[in-house]
Amino acid sequence: MSSFRKRALDEFSQHRAQRFYKENRPVSEFFAQNVFDQAKMRKYLSAESYEAVQASINDGKKLNRNLANQIASGMRSWAVEMGCTHYTHWFQPLTDSAAEKHESFIGKTKGGIFEHFDGKALVQQEPDASSFPNGGLRNTFEARGYTAWDPTSPAFIMNQTLCIPTIFVSYTGESLDMKVPYLKSLESLQKAAMGVVSMFDKSAKRVDAMLGVEQEYFLVDESLFLARPDLQACDRTLLGHTSAKDQQLEDHYFGAIPPRVNAFMKDFETEAYKLGILLKTRHNEVAPNQFECAPLFEESNLAIDHNLILMIMMRDIAAKHNLKVIFHEKPFNGVNGSGKHCNWSLITNNGINILKPGKTPNKNFLFLSVLSSVLRAVYEHHYLLMASTMSLSNSYRLGGNEAPPAVMSIFAGSTLTKLLKSLENLNFDENVTATTKDKLDIIDSLPEILLDNTDRNRTSPFAFTGNRFEFRAVGSSCNIASTMFILNSAVAQQLTRFKKLVEELIAKGVDKHEAIIKVVRQYIIESKNIMFEGNGYSKEWQEEAKKRGLKSIVNPPEAFKAFVEEKSMELFSEENVLTKRETEARFEVMNESYVKKLQIEARVLGDLTINHVIPTAIKFQNTLIDNVIGLQKVFGEEKVKDMSKSQIELIEKMSYYIESIRQNAHDMIEARKVANVIEDIAEKAEAYCKTVAPYMDKIRRKADKLEMLVDDELWPLPKYRELLYLDN
Ligand code: ADP
Ligand code: MG
Repeated sequence: MSSFRKRALDEFSQHRAQRFYKENRPVSEFFAQNVFDQAKMRKYLSAESYEAVQASINDGKKLNRNLANQIASGMRSWAVEMGCTHYTHWFQPLTDSAAEKHESFIGKTKGGIFEHFDGKALVQQEPDASSFPNGGLRNTFEARGYTAWDPTSPAFIMNQTLCIPTIFVSYTGESLDMKVPYLKSLESLQKAAMGVVSMFDKSAKRVDAMLGVEQEYFLVDESLFLARPDLQACDRTLLGHTSAKDQQLEDHYFGAIPPRVNAFMKDFETEAYKLGILLKTRHNEVAPNQFECAPLFEESNLAIDHNLILMIMMRDIAAKHNLKVIFHEKPFNGVNGSGKHCNWSLITNNGINILKPGKTPNKNFLFLSVLSSVLRAVYEHHYLLMASTMSLSNSYRLGGNEAPPAVMSIFAGSTLTKLLKSLENLNFDENVTATTKDKLDIIDSLPEILLDNTDRNRTSPFAFTGNRFEFRAVGSSCNIASTMFILNSAVAQQLTRFKKLVEELIAKGVDKHEAIIKVVRQYIIESKNIMFEGNGYSKEWQEEAKKRGLKSIVNPPEAFKAFVEEKSMELFSEENVLTKRETEARFEVMNESYVKKLQIEARVLGDLTINHVIPTAIKFQNTLIDNVIGLQKVFGEEKVKDMSKSQIELIEKMSYYIESIRQNAHDMIEARKVANVIEDIAEKAEAYCKTVAPYMDKIRRKADKLEMLVDDELWPLPKYRELLYLDN
């Protein structure tokens, strides 16, 4: 067997379930031990600085230098006691991961060596902005960028480093990260939601967006992973024939977790608990080697940070188990891809979930107001919302059979659908004299909408699941802030408008409740086209969606344009989340990242086929040829023509595949050359999408055919059946 693959398989067979975790204490005893949480603040800060941090968390109050120094000093004491030597501002540039630049605490004065961390270092740092994607937001003469502390997300310790969650902005104050627009969208949403809540509940002071993020991922043995240049460079297989058995028997989903995987899960969960991430669920997913974990929902800014921390930590811990975690949305063809289901709701500081229908949803005015505003928001920006989930990697998953389709729709469930219908049919005719209350009483009494509703539709990209919405199109590898800030903004916009419309009616003398129901009804009617209860994967729906004027995603570069459409720009500026310049910069970054990733994939595929696949195929073809020549010597040419007919055909077929791969690989390089000289980044992305990407499929198809023909002993790359198997 090819020595490369053989060594990988040998190593793989020796990898066993390991027990790294030493933690036997109850989780409650060590939960959040690596987080500078309230309890630690109370211990390490003076009352004055504790109050100052709280004011800055809850009311966005600025800290003065003196207090910042005190807080930094308290944090440092705690971190050093915990064994930290370094600190870092931990931020979220326009990539899908987090960035860190470590500084050590250690310092020197005349007095000697000591550990030091002052308020200035806590509050602000200056990493070079030019080294991160910035979409031209950096002046060439001023590359500086600033990171600034986000006190709403607590500092934490990872790898003996004190990590301080921060935002990242350019010298000129423009956002260069995912957190700034997210925090801004949150502010708008909180304000708009409070506006509506205050119409009903005078005691509520604050509304928070809550997020529960289900994270899907694949695991692959490290040795096998390292023997696949495509997995190494692209996090996905560019080649590989599907295995005879993968998910068709449906025996993996919720099946027993393999011992090796279980040990890994236990280990990363322990670390997650220490970091204050409250993981609740773990299970096998649909595809072989695919799994999911989900934390308990929490305040959304924190949930986003936690999701990123979790991904980073899972990668680290996996290495200890000789495993690789793959967060790519579609690492393997032919089996399910991975997503990140974002469960989203709005909860007041009194603990009331305003998306909870309650026992009498038809009379729950607050619920109806918020619900109809969300429907209206998703309808209004349906294309932008779907487009925001787009990336090269997620484009391989979306629209596939197993993934949410690339057109937005909302699933409400049968009970809620019935309610929406009744509201729509309410008669507000002037001569009907019944009061709003009477009218609402007429609505069929509905069963309580239960949380554990079996009424679930897995084919919907955006589903109401009892007391929250679940956005399922979001990709498994991304920073969800990039999508969720749009949802927040869109909902904020409609909530603000909702309140205004109601107030206008009231000003005209309409009764308050009647005014509310009128606007609810208006919103329901206006967003009717986005509601869909059927099978989202069906052909009929694609056609139906088109008829309803719902715009579906064609390809990533086309989708990115949604950001710079006038309607989107208006939303961003109305909700104060992104300026025109910031939006255009993001648009540029999306295109740039798409081009670069596709370019890498195309190169790796070229290398793999020219240097691995074709030479192997030729080697095998030569043994076939030798065999035919040998047979001819024994039996004579005439006879061999008959007796080795299929073998000769096979030799010919292989030549055809080899030639086709070579030709396509050559043409793909030429297409890249043409695309590479295009100046405009959006046009370049489009050229890559339309003229380079199609070759990848063509090449793969032929290479996968060769994999099925060539002697298994010779094949250099671990095969799907080896990669997607983790039972040792
Ligand atoms: P399923 O796979 O059945 O959708 P999971 O248990 O895997 O459910 O994940 C559900 C996620 O939704 C969890 O993270 C959970 O904490 C979260 N969740 C539950 N209630 C809410 C809520 N009100 N708001 C936001 N997220 C919620
Ligand atoms: Mg789940």
